[in-house]
Amino acid sequence: MTLPSPPPQPASPAVWPGEPGMGGWYTEAEHAALAQVLAEMPSWTDQYTRRHQEEFEKAFAAYTGAGFAVSVNSGGVALDLAMTCLDAEPGAEVISCAINFPGTHLAVLGAGFRLVLAEPDPHTLNLDPDEIARRMTPRTTAVLVTHMNGQPADLVAIESETTSRAAALGIGPPRIVVDAARAAGATTPLGPVGSGGWLTMFSFHRKKLMTTLGEGGMLTTDCEATAHRIRQLRSFGLGQTLGSSHRMTEFQAAVGSVQLKRLDTMNDQRIALARERTRLLTGTPGLHTPGERAGYRHVYYLYNVLLDAALPAGTRDRLRDALREEHAIGTVIANPPTYRVHPLIAKATAGQWPLPVAEDVASRLLCPALHPLMSPEDNTRTAEALTTWLRTAGAA
Ligand SMILES: *Cc1c(COP(=O)(O)O)cnc(C)c1O
Repeated sequence: MTLPSPPPQPASPAVWPGEPGMGGWYTEAEHAALAQVLAEMPSWTDQYTRRHQEEFEKAFAAYTGAGFAVSVNSGGVALDLAMTCLDAEPGAEVISCAINFPGTHLAVLGAGFRLVLAEPDPHTLNLDPDEIARRMTPRTTAVLVTHMNGQPADLVAIESETTSRAAALGIGPPRIVVDAARAAGATTPLGPVGSGGWLTMFSFHRKKLMTTLGEGGMLTTDCEATAHRIRQLRSFGLGQTLGSSHRMTEFQAAVGSVQLKRLDTMNDQRIALARERTRLLTGTPGLHTPGERAGYRHVYYLYNVLLDAALPAGTRDRLRDALREEHAIGTVIANPPTYRVHPLIAKATAGQWPLPVAEDVASRLLCPALHPLMSPEDNTRTAEALTTWLRTAGAA
């Protein structure tokens, strides 16, 4: 069984997509893994196994340092199952940063919970730990923390704020659910992302840092009962309880194992480009580059800059147009407050917004294209385009 070889990977597209259609890339190894799964398929009379799923989960648990890893067929499903595992009453509250992927908040609403929006730390775009004390109530069942754009949130502070506020309120500590869809391979002082917190979800959608043939997800936890519950929910209750069908295929799992082995290399290339870009941009007037914090590994799913608050309104949008039209460099704004982009979220959180910090950050945020295969020349060109524009047109 032979499959066509992977095409050579370009380092310079004619127009840089703001968020490339694939976050990593495939090599001969993924192609070989696919061919092998197909060649090993048992005949229709044989017992079918999930050997590749088990291997991928074991490798993922070992990589993240979590006790258990359970694969599913998308990140969105992983979020839904995490909400189900909270076993909370309808109307229970889930605190989450307003600067977020809208799908993350839809999982909260879909589960029938009340979404409580919180402000970001403008330097990291992550949930500001100081917000916990302001937003927690006796009805808070969970804090849903997204590691935005590969920059890990301060889980240490979030956990301690949550625990001490819960003690003050006389309730058990709410659960920490982590959305690491954009942060596979990142680390916090608690260890690799995937350890720490109660439950962490990952996405292997094609755009993410690693992929399982375009769609896929994983949940990690140290709680054996929760891992078992997710396996039930994923496979029609395993004959014991409610559940549906949310498994990934053997082909996806086999490719996932290869991508996981390559994850650090792919991330290292991203990090090297991002650090070089930061070096080139440092000192550019009106621009704040993404910081890195001691004890944290930022994997730069996106490279986000903030324009200075002193610049006139609309500067970000003019810069965005100039990058696209004059330099063929795409950008994304990731992400505006979810209540600005999804009518259901806006309705469900009416009265809680506008949130001043989230609004301000979203008006100054820009993520110029980055990909691990970006050529050093294109990376330099991107930085120079930003610097030149801000020194000339932007200042005008
Ligand atoms: C992509 C993404 C998801 C959803 O993952 P899918 O696998 O696409 O369903 C959830 N949260 C964040 C932050 C994401 O970026």
